[in-house]
Amino acid sequence: MGVLTYDKDEDVRALKQYVLYGLKGIAAYAEHASNLGHEDPEIFAFMEESLAMIGRAMDRDAMLAWVLRTGEFGVRVMALLDQANTTAYGKPEITRVSIGAGRNPGILVSGHDLKDLEQLLIQSAGQGIDVYTHSEMLPAHAYPQLKKYPHLVGNYGNAWHRQLEEFESFNGPILFTTNCLVPPRKNATYSGRVFTTGAAGMPGWQHLERKLADGRKDFSQIIALAKTCPPPREIENGKITIGFAHDQVLALADKILAAVKSGAIRKFVVMSGCDARQHSREYYREFAKNLPADTVILTSGCAKYRYNKLGLGDIGGIPRVLDAGQCNDSYSWARVALALKDALKLEDINQLPIVFNIAWYEQKAVIVHLALLYLGIRNTLIGPTLPGFLTPGLLKIVGEKFGVRTITTVDQDMKSFGLGNGAG
Ligand code: SF4
Repeated sequence: MGVLTYDKDEDVRALKQYVLYGLKGIAAYAEHASNLGHEDPEIFAFMEESLAMIGRAMDRDAMLAWVLRTGEFGVRVMALLDQANTTAYGKPEITRVSIGAGRNPGILVSGHDLKDLEQLLIQSAGQGIDVYTHSEMLPAHAYPQLKKYPHLVGNYGNAWHRQLEEFESFNGPILFTTNCLVPPRKNATYSGRVFTTGAAGMPGWQHLERKLADGRKDFSQIIALAKTCPPPREIENGKITIGFAHDQVLALADKILAAVKSGAIRKFVVMSGCDARQHSREYYREFAKNLPADTVILTSGCAKYRYNKLGLGDIGGIPRVLDAGQCNDSYSWARVALALKDALKLEDINQLPIVFNIAWYEQKAVIVHLALLYLGIRNTLIGPTLPGFLTPGLLKIVGEKFGVRTITTVDQDMKSFGLGNGAG
């Protein structure tokens, strides 16, 4: 019996998709946490219960409640992963990361799994090889137990969808630890030097899962290949600043609160989420560029690559782009928002000088979005294109109930956030 048989209402079907995509995001985060030995049986139980629910007839109100519950478990799994990452690798610290290229052969690590990166760093140490991060692996540089490796030298390139050009110029082997990948062009020179591991995979690319005697994954094939490759070709240079996860931001709380109270910081704009190749994503670069000078961007996920190299300056020593890390580190912004609400003695989280403009692309962005709804955060913008399952009816429902809107133009959205006509 198909879903069309028992859910006649297309908005109910859409709400089930909302939950299903959220579950996929939860599953991805739960797997990373599990790889580091952190599991929460109640998260698994909720996932099972939800999958069973999708096969039953449901009404709208029950589904809306289930969407919020999914968001609740989104917060919970992000907290679990935060605990797993910080227990294993320490609390992220403010760190300057090189975006240039060195003279040694390099290995480029993409995806989100910090444990895979750590295992590669251990095995490649002292062999004249540099390890670089790509896309969402950038935040690894802020963790004390990863940045201690001197051959973790920098971040090469930008968001995942720039792989086609950046993998050509990198010259060395590439390791994918999760699946934000672009199928290679037929004439790509790099296919023979790309490897996948864990949940990542691509027909034609080698998948590494074999274990060494000590239980670590065996990355010797990548290391041997790297030694035969020329160093990366430099495509940009300079440094960017990262490492603003919740502990680091809360350590600056006094400074931040003083800046809010004096009016030096008028608003925080959370611009977390995913990036992708479509031209419409330029909206986010333009939005960041046009924000007034008394605003601070809070970011996480690869959407940041649209504006993290713009040199937007700082406000009294507080950078105008605070990068918390990977998309799951959006949890940091929830922690920071709740702490600010308490510090400013506000009744409602929506009274905070924080607005949300989230870039959707895949399932992890959906669970981040649902987590915001669960936390009671209203008036979020999402875009640039909408998930296919968001029917006009569902968009109306989430608009009325949660204040979710879709992006329009930079100018109009800026005004809707009370940010006037832009750059000031
Ligand atoms: S933020 Fe989203 S699109 Fe970007 S690498 Fe992470 S999961 Fe993929």
